[in-house]
Amino acid sequence: MRRRIVDIQMKHKCDITIVGSNFGGALTAHVLAKIGYRVCVVDRFEHPRFTIGESTTPLADIAVERIAERYGLKWLKPLARYGTASKISTEVVVGPKRGFSYFHHRQGSAFEPSPERGSELLVAASTSEAVADMHWLRSSVDSFIADRLPDSGVRLLEKYRITEIRKDGSWSIIGEKGGQTIQIDSRFIIDATGRAAAVNRSIGARTVDHELLTNTSAIYGHFQGLQDWTDVYRALGGNSDQHPFPAQRAALHHMINEGWMWQLGFDNGITSCGVVFAGTLPAGSVEDRWNSVLESYPSLLEQFKDSELAGSEELKGIKRIQYLREFEFVENLLSLPSTIGFVDPMHSTGIAQTLNAIEKIGVMFEMANPGFPGADDQTAYVRNVIRDVKWIDELVSAAYASRFDFELFVSAVLLYFVVVASAERDLPDSFLHSDTGSVTSTVVKLTCLIRDIEARHKTGELGRSEIRKATETIRKETAHLNDFGLMDPKSNNLYLHTAVDKSYKRIGAG
Ligand SMILES: Cc1cc2nc3c(=O)[nH]c(=O)nc-3n(C[C@H](O)[C@H](O)[C@H](O)COP(=O)(O)OP(=O)(O)OC[C@H]3O[C@@H](n4cnc5c(N)ncnc54)[C@H](O)[C@@H]3O)c2cc1C
Repeated sequence: MRRRIVDIQMKHKCDITIVGSNFGGALTAHVLAKIGYRVCVVDRFEHPRFTIGESTTPLADIAVERIAERYGLKWLKPLARYGTASKISTEVVVGPKRGFSYFHHRQGSAFEPSPERGSELLVAASTSEAVADMHWLRSSVDSFIADRLPDSGVRLLEKYRITEIRKDGSWSIIGEKGGQTIQIDSRFIIDATGRAAAVNRSIGARTVDHELLTNTSAIYGHFQGLQDWTDVYRALGGNSDQHPFPAQRAALHHMINEGWMWQLGFDNGITSCGVVFAGTLPAGSVEDRWNSVLESYPSLLEQFKDSELAGSEELKGIKRIQYLREFEFVENLLSLPSTIGFVDPMHSTGIAQTLNAIEKIGVMFEMANPGFPGADDQTAYVRNVIRDVKWIDELVSAAYASRFDFELFVSAVLLYFVVVASAERDLPDSFLHSDTGSVTSTVVKLTCLIRDIEARHKTGELGRSEIRKATETIRKETAHLNDFGLMDPKSNNLYLHTAVDKSYKRIGAG
């Protein structure tokens, strides 16, 4: 930003300024304040407000619990499990997530359940609702965390519009709030503005989105009156008695030709729904594209028949979900993962990755206290976040590459679950074992196989037997990593015993 002469009406001084007050920025602020730094948080909006990105995972819960314990944030700890989070107060709206459920629809036909369950996959992530993961209604959870900032001694300035960011040894942010020009001076700055990357853009960070393999777009909104999918499924003749958990009390994925639809149900009757399109957003208004998807899939149309957008909400669209930024080293600047890069809602990695980074930032500052992390730590942090984003991209893009055949897709998804289950068991330093050679070398060989199969499918050279052979290869090659009973041919695509128990020890398969 260009330097201007401005009339400053108010000045604040702190050690660290965090730009962005959603859960990422706000929780980082709590952590750094508890370590002993004077922290200011600024945001251009005020809570509560709509934010997308709502489904947590066991790794997210583990991080919430560890952050709460390490930094004495007692009020945060209940947010580590659905059973306790759902009782915090009416202020916090969550929904149960027992695992991941997938149903494969054919365009123009009703969903076809079968006794062999060739069109469905259910993978448990927890052993009961009490200890389950959850969906966060982000407007409520982000407010819950931001509203407590004063208790940790953090100053929060909302509706603060940044007009200038300066770095002269230390950082100065100049912005307007309520007609006043306010300057905030600090030694360190953290960019927690997600896709906006407000600080990084001001210093010229470039986007290198083309380095990511995944290429998707989305239309989404919050609905009320959605029918429970299990009821629709049963009406179609499906037998849900053996489902390891109710399919709708999970991150529900409807797999369709265009990509997939997510459904995340909250306890207040609202369901977050979004269609992720493989490739660019189709032409036309978001409403037309949305309706066209529902009209192409009779069972989805049935599920939505009595639903409507919640409150005064409108459908929203994102042209390309993925982004990645390239960084020059800038002293005393760190960015949260979602500011550096993001891949896709498939596999729900965003919240867990952000929480994992907050833990690392906490440790970095604890070691540096009362000073600030040095260049080596900062550089290593950015390098690791980029490595994690690219690793997620590897796993997610393989799932998209396999979409043309549900059997192959199941293998690609279970390959991811082998990785994530290993990470939940081992709690490695890197996110999802992104830096564990024995895991990455096996997995990359298999993601390459999936991409190769997809390429041959596109040229029409592929037979059914080759898909079978590929799924068998994936099963065999991951056997040494797979202590969780995943990819068991006798499972009928229903996995109950891969879930973590209350103490986060894994229970064996079988
Ligand atoms: C379509 C979609 C679906 C997703 N689904 C999931 C999911 O199911 N599970 C999951 O784990 N993750 C999901 N994610 C990822 C998840 O949204 C992010 O990981 C998460 O939002 C990161 O939180 P954050 O607080 O770091 O950033 P954000 O939530 O992006 O917050 C950024 C903050 O910065 C503020 N800000 C922006 N610009 C400025 C500015 N100029 N000045 C001041 N403040 C500013 C904003 O107001 C906001 O408060 C999804 C993402 C997308 C795009």
